[in-house]
Amino acid sequence: MARVLFRGGTLVDGAGAPPRCGDLLISGETIAGLDSFEAPADARVIDCRGLAVAPGFIDSHSHSDLQVLENRREKVWQGVTTEVVGNCGFSPYPAPSNLKLLHDFANGIFCGNQDWGWPTAKAYLDRAAQATATAVLSLVGHGSLRIARAGNRLGPLSKRDLDWMEQKLSESLQEGACGFSTGLMYSPGASAPFEELEQLCLVVARHGKTYATHMRDYGDYLAQAVDEQLELARRTGCRLQISHLQAVGPRNWDKQGTVIEKIERAAANGIDVGFDCYPYTRGSTVLSQLLPQCALEGGIDGLLARLDDRAERTRITAETEASLAQGWAGIWIASVESQRNRSLIGKTVAAIAEERAREPVEIVLDLIQEERGLVNILELNQSQPNLRQTLSHPLSSIISDGFYVKGNPHPRLYGTFPLLLGEISRERGWLTLAEAVHKITDKPAHRFGIAKRGRLQNGYFADVIVFDPETVNGPATYENPTLAPTGIRHVFRNGAEVI
Ligand SMILES: [Zn+2]
Repeated sequence: MARVLFRGGTLVDGAGAPPRCGDLLISGETIAGLDSFEAPADARVIDCRGLAVAPGFIDSHSHSDLQVLENRREKVWQGVTTEVVGNCGFSPYPAPSNLKLLHDFANGIFCGNQDWGWPTAKAYLDRAAQATATAVLSLVGHGSLRIARAGNRLGPLSKRDLDWMEQKLSESLQEGACGFSTGLMYSPGASAPFEELEQLCLVVARHGKTYATHMRDYGDYLAQAVDEQLELARRTGCRLQISHLQAVGPRNWDKQGTVIEKIERAAANGIDVGFDCYPYTRGSTVLSQLLPQCALEGGIDGLLARLDDRAERTRITAETEASLAQGWAGIWIASVESQRNRSLIGKTVAAIAEERAREPVEIVLDLIQEERGLVNILELNQSQPNLRQTLSHPLSSIISDGFYVKGNPHPRLYGTFPLLLGEISRERGWLTLAEAVHKITDKPAHRFGIAKRGRLQNGYFADVIVFDPETVNGPATYENPTLAPTGIRHVFRNGAEVI
């Protein structure tokens, strides 16, 4: 069995213990020993003096459902060895017989074409097990599950439909899916009543897995959205993970403290709740998420028909403007489908509106029509003090929430984990190195039931990262989002060197 001795590094164990100097020995796929060793004669020795040695990072909120299958390197470069996909209600299974329904629903997040879709969790997970870059875990997406049964229909479903979804979710969890996710700002999942979510979360609880939620609102109704999710966890007993917690828009920034108190109180009362966050003040999503839910019935075809109707368009315009918390100067176009609109990438909606001498909201609706909905945006969501509060909170894990786009991605796809260790921890001092590493290793491993990963501990999988704590950083910016990280020296997954 191949053995590697990491000699004389600073061991950051993932569990949160103070870093200490020592050796780490791996043998085959597992960690065989810590502290201080004579190098076994057959071992490769890596001199780690002056460097940090940590468990492989776990990105517990990734949208690389399709790209993990292509062994893309963007995450590995950051030291990520495990990814949890299937977030925000989007999973590439269970696929309906009419694949177009699933593609129209998810391609804005998956950056996919017309050539994907798996009938079951097992079929997808078998395929993902062949991925060589990262280990892949997957949540069953509520939106995908609903579409597989009911297409783009909105609102309450029949008992037969719900029972089918319950059964399919249960099978998927049995087949190895690590939990269930909702995306309650995306159609059609957003139209699900509380009772539907309750029925499905009971299944999650029964299987002892995790329920991760992109809640109904992060802006004006953030508090109500958090209340609903806590109530779901309280009633069903499922483990709850609130995805990318934040308060969107200056008028809502003061709400974050209140919702964190709600979460702390729930945790103190025995609810198994945690949340996660990415280390950037800007978010990223699809442009159509700015529209009211009622505009989205019937998928993209339904939306386009409504935008062609004068009265409907007027109503959508008014509702979109009323609910916008960020302001048009805080929304940038990140990607479009067509060639003719490529020049808009990187511009704000406000700037485009000025150029074209139209109202900003009209620009949004025009673009949705011209691009058939396939537009991604960056949005200035958060304040720095709020970001510091979530990143450093004991209940948080830190995630990338990264996804690929045909244009300029959010820099979190390239920079999240090194940025956390460099700018956020070393330079700003928001967290210690041990805390930062804990939030991207052992903590998410516990939240998502990932066994034997996330710690430097005997018998754990040999997912090991070596980095230079003085130079590690994620230099990718909004303007230059694909810059590679600095300071990551070695990445081992299951005992094999990946870079
Ligand atoms: Zn989300």
